[in-house]
Amino acid sequence: MYESKAYAAAGPTTSLAPTTIKRREPGGDDVQIEILYCGICHSDLHQVRNEWSAMPTVYPCVPGHEIVGRVTKVGTAVTKFKPGDLAAVGCLVDSDGNCPSCQSGLEQFCPNMTLTYNSPDVHLGGITYGGYSDSIVVKEHFVLSVPTNLNLAGVAPLLCAGITTYSPIRHWGVTKGKKVGVVGLGGLGHMAVKFAHAFGAHVVVFTTSPNKKEDALSLGADEVVVSRNSEEMNKHLASFDFIIDTVSAEHDINAYLQLLRPDGNMTLVGAPDKPHAVSAMSLLFKRRSLSGSLIGGIAETQEMLEFCSKHNITADVEIIPIQKVNEAFDRLARADVKYRFSIDMTSLTQSKTP
Ligand code: NAP
Ligand code: ZN
Repeated sequence: MYESKAYAAAGPTTSLAPTTIKRREPGGDDVQIEILYCGICHSDLHQVRNEWSAMPTVYPCVPGHEIVGRVTKVGTAVTKFKPGDLAAVGCLVDSDGNCPSCQSGLEQFCPNMTLTYNSPDVHLGGITYGGYSDSIVVKEHFVLSVPTNLNLAGVAPLLCAGITTYSPIRHWGVTKGKKVGVVGLGGLGHMAVKFAHAFGAHVVVFTTSPNKKEDALSLGADEVVVSRNSEEMNKHLASFDFIIDTVSAEHDINAYLQLLRPDGNMTLVGAPDKPHAVSAMSLLFKRRSLSGSLIGGIAETQEMLEFCSKHNITADVEIIPIQKVNEAFDRLARADVKYRFSIDMTSLTQSKTP
């Protein structure tokens, strides 16, 4: 074991503060990574504030699952990485490897998967600690190769916001000529716009923030609808092939279901705790479907990174030092970020640890 610097929340209403945590020495199939950037996902905020009844938070909580860094050490059985390589880690650090989900590259649905933070830690006991830290040790299978042509601060958010939007966009066959809606222009939403645009779709952003209109267009949207304006909404009735809903808070999803064409699909990726009310009529009249999607498997995450490399796609980031993390959380809660915070982890060395 060795000690790592980190930022942790001690409870749902306390600020994140500097601490030290234990990491395991890399075993045979492990990769040790010095973390350079870690994105701030709204899931970090939900988890730190204990907002998910299905996934209660164990404290202290070190969040962070949008990790990019440099390999410092590898175990003897590691073949894909060597010290000095760039490497990345997303929301998963382990799974059983032999269930039907793992066998088909869908590790995110493995009943025994280990999340990067707030999951039982089979190596050290306690729970796993995430990327708001200077170092992490992860099994090789869950470590991604990072294309060298992309800006690293903007790569970090691809590990969650990127794959979470790329995966359903691929699954639901978004291609040239399809009309795609993106609900909510935050971290996930702005990545969904970039991907749907790159696949050639006609992209419409639905936002509650009129001041994001110009940004939406420059990110690749063809149209922007202020969702609180029912006249603007009604112009799009029954016209969408696919809608991805990235909203982190309670809202009326029926307003979007009725915008789907016959056989259209709406996929929820946003994860508010409170159940949505769904109108049966909206679904059955045009055989519409409503589904969900959770991050993506390891192979698809690597595919997404290669796609980003080829199309020069990264997240638009506001880079912050770790000392600004609490301010960033407050701004994220107010939907005030353009469009992802990426923490420069080298700032952690300046933090006083207790
Ligand atoms: P984010 O950056 O905060 O973006 C969420 C956006 O939702 C906001 O920018 C805002 O967009 C809109 N919004 C916020 N409050 C709203 C309200 N009360 N009514 C309507 N719209 C509202 O968050 P994120 O990091 O993209 O994450 C979004 C959600 O996805 C979170 O719940 C997160 O936990 C979840 N998530 C799920 C997965 C998965 O695997 N399924 C993975 C990662 C994250 P406008 O200003 O444009 O309206
Ligand atoms: Zn996330």
